[in-house]
Amino acid sequence: MSFEKLNLNKPLLNALNDLGYIEPTPIQERAFPVIMSGRDVIGIAQTGTGKTFAYLLPILRNLKYSDQRHPRVLVIVPTRELVLQIVKEIEKLSTYTSTRFLAIYGGTNINTQKQLVYNGVDIIVATPGRLVDLALTGLLRLKDIKQMVIDEVDQMLSLGFRQQLLSFLETMPNKRQTLMFSATMNEEIEAVVAKYFYEPEKIEVNPHGTPLEKIIQVCYHVPNFNTKLNLLEYLLKTDDSMNKVLVFTGTKKLADNVFDQLKQRFPDDVVVIHSNLSQTARINSLKQFHEGTKRVLVATDIVARGLDITDVSHVINFDTPETPEDYIHRIGRTGRANKDGVAITFINEAELEFQVSIETMMNKAIPYESMPEEVVISKMLTDDELPKMVDKIKQKKGKDTHVPGPAFHEKKLKNKKVNLGGPAQKEKLKGKDAKIRTYRRN
Ligand code: ADP
Ligand code: MG
Repeated sequence: MSFEKLNLNKPLLNALNDLGYIEPTPIQERAFPVIMSGRDVIGIAQTGTGKTFAYLLPILRNLKYSDQRHPRVLVIVPTRELVLQIVKEIEKLSTYTSTRFLAIYGGTNINTQKQLVYNGVDIIVATPGRLVDLALTGLLRLKDIKQMVIDEVDQMLSLGFRQQLLSFLETMPNKRQTLMFSATMNEEIEAVVAKYFYEPEKIEVNPHGTPLEKIIQVCYHVPNFNTKLNLLEYLLKTDDSMNKVLVFTGTKKLADNVFDQLKQRFPDDVVVIHSNLSQTARINSLKQFHEGTKRVLVATDIVARGLDITDVSHVINFDTPETPEDYIHRIGRTGRANKDGVAITFINEAELEFQVSIETMMNKAIPYESMPEEVVISKMLTDDELPKMVDKIKQKKGKDTHVPGPAFHEKKLKNKKVNLGGPAQKEKLKGKDAKIRTYRRN
């Protein structure tokens, strides 16, 4: 099926042709006619399968030229980086039209944005916070919004955004088409759908939370922070295929720690991103990683959602994500648009429960790799790790006061050689004899 078969117009076909895209992805093919029909849509498809164009193509097809000031289309997303990315996608598709679009997000001068809104705009792409701020000034009026998209909708309804988004939805005009997309969904969404959608059509290409087959997943059991660091350094040093590596940590503080440590070993290779950095620093880190001038980006979940970074070779979960949804989105930063990718997860004892819920959701075990012999097992705990360990030891009431360091994975030290991501290893992991993790806490 080529794009010609969709009811697109010349400017869109030409733009797609310039991009070199030949055929629509399954979610694009299926969503197009339904969105064109005016119905509300809930779209679920795996990471990196083209959900952005799945909603942008029908929206742009539908958008008639106008010089009215107030926007007619609104796209809401969870992060500033995603706002910028989606605006770029609109720009690519609008080469042959005069569509006016605008990025609205925090951390930048609100007066500049006010002026741009005042000049008139067709499509607004926004994070919820700054959108509400602008709407409150009265300058940005949303009464003419005819189509609204909530991308990464399950995250938009999670704790951090929920209240903001719901009260925002209350202020929106009733007569509009609402579209929501994500690779994962949750139950909370049902309630929102019931309240704010009108007879929505659910388009589900794969069941929610299905990981891409293209991504090779592996995990290591690693006892503590310092050993995780040793393993990370070892992999970065020995595995030549690690040419674009996205390292996820659980907190901003850990991101800074890992960054500081890696910087000493690989001074020219590493950048960091999290929400405590300035907007300029965030943009710079992402740009350098995206363009390939820096090999490693250490990040929090701020970049886990939606971001389309070219050819990420490896995603490394330095900390195991606490929810299976986060896992699916993090690993989905690689293997995009039909490319290959490797996702490696470091799991300590406390994180085993997360592993269980991830594997339950995927209905699949993450293949297990033994710790390479060369990696030094550190017994040194960080300040953050210490109190937890002490608590644990107290609970055991002197039964076994040995701190669970090396013993945790000693039994798996039998096998050694690791060359993750090299072609031979990839084949091996793909094959049926891929080692399936054997250790699971009951
Ligand atoms: P998702 O939102 O599903 O995670 P994106 O919309 O970010 O995925 O798209 C992933 C990548 O695929 C992007 O680089 C995008 O430009 C590319 N892409 C989108 N549609 C097509 C297509 N029809 N053919 C080839 N590549 C595409
Ligand atoms: Mg997306």
